[in-house]
Parts: sequence; C-alpha cells; structure tokens
Amino acid sequence: MPPTPATICKGCWQQMHVPVPIRGLLSLPFRLAGIRISRMNPNLCNICETMFTRVKRRSQIQIEATVLFADVRGYTSTAASADPAAVAKMLDRFYDICADAVWERDGIINKFIGDAVLAIFNFPLERPDHVEQAVGAGLAILDRTSAADALLHRGATTARMGIGVGIHTGTASIGEFGTAYKDFTIIGPVVNLASRVQGIARAGELLVTSDVYRHVADAFPEVPARQVPLKGIDRATAVFPIRAAPAA
Ligand SMILES: [Zn+2]
Repeated sequence: MPPTPATICKGCWQQMHVPVPIRGLLSLPFRLAGIRISRMNPNLCNICETMFTRVKRRSQIQIEATVLFADVRGYTSTAASADPAAVAKMLDRFYDICADAVWERDGIINKFIGDAVLAIFNFPLERPDHVEQAVGAGLAILDRTSAADALLHRGATTARMGIGVGIHTGTASIGEFGTAYKDFTIIGPVVNLASRVQGIARAGELLVTSDVYRHVADAFPEVPARQVPLKGIDRATAVFPIRAAPAA
C-alpha cells in the first residue's frame, strides 16, 4: 500500500527548510507560479529536480548516487507473439510497481526506456542509506511483479513479466544534458556499469556490484560472488546475486 503523499515538497524542505505546498488548497498559488508535483517522484516538486542549476549556477553536478535498472526479460519475444493489449497492460503494471517501490524509498524514476526503468537514489532527496534503499526497492520490484504475474495470468504462458534488476553505486554526473533538447538525466561509469549488470541478470534476479554488496552484506550474508565478463571491461567483474533466479 503506497504511503500517504506528502503535502509539502520533501526536497525543498530538506534542502532549504522552505515549506512548498504541492497538494491541497495552499498549493494553488504555487501551481499558478509553475511549481507542480514532480513526475519523477510525487513527494517532490518540479523545481527540486534542477534546483542546483540555480544555486550552483551550473547545469550539471557530481553526486553520490545509487542507480537501479530494471527491465522485462524476454519482453521482445513476448511482444511479438502476445496480444498487444495484454503486453501494454503488463508494461503499465510493471511501471506502476517500479514507481511505487522507488518512491516509497525516496528515489526518483528518471526514465522509462521502452521495457526498462532507470531509478536514482540519493537525489534530490538525500539519504545516508540510499544503497540499502535501492536494494530494498529492487527486491520489492521482484516480489510484486511475480505476485502480479501470478494474479494476472493464472496458468497462461504469454505476456509474463520476468524482471531482471541491476544496481551499482558511486559518483555520477546529474543534470541537464544537450542544448536544443534538454534532457535531465544521470551519466557516467556508474550508470554504465549498473546497466551492464542489469543486462546479465536473469528473470527474477537482482544482481549488485561489490560496491553495493559492501553496504548490505550484514543483511544478506554469504552471497557468493559471480565473476562475469562485461562488455567494455577487460577483467572479470564480481557481481552478487542478492536474489538469484528461481530454478526453471
Ligand atoms: Zn521542491
């Protein structure tokens, strides 16, 4: 069950201690001034996303962040064979599940890219436990999609969501990139590695890097490292299946 949405922007409150109403009667004058609920997290306003550009007078900044990618495994083959309406319904459900799991833990959904989701933790809402929160979101996404699958299909074999999740953490650049078309996003090696780790996750699997695992080793002890070759990296990379794929 989603938590009660915030009436004032959590980001503006955390960063500036200014109560900016985003819901209810008090939010009306703010809305007239162009301040709306952020599409990336309903507890934030649209100003928070790029507040640093005004404060720091730069269009990009370096941040410590945890990046989560999730996507639908085998979606392409499913999409080709399944009823388009069923596939659309499945994707809607997947997006909703990801958004709730991320927003409950103060992350933002930066993008939906086809059948994949890019979520960022520790920006603009800062949390000292952003790595743990991202891992919690990844597990929630796997649990809820498999529950939704069971409910939606009851024995049918098509249009199932098999979700793979990958998480990495470190320093990345966030901001608006591009001139003609400004795109607010996060870039850097942290994002690339999170994406590659997610790329090798099997359906039902949550893979994290050693930088992530260090933060959650107490909660998930003795997860065996898997040495995997990743595109663009010379040596094998250690990944940790916080949740391994269920036996087929
Ligand atoms: Zn705000």
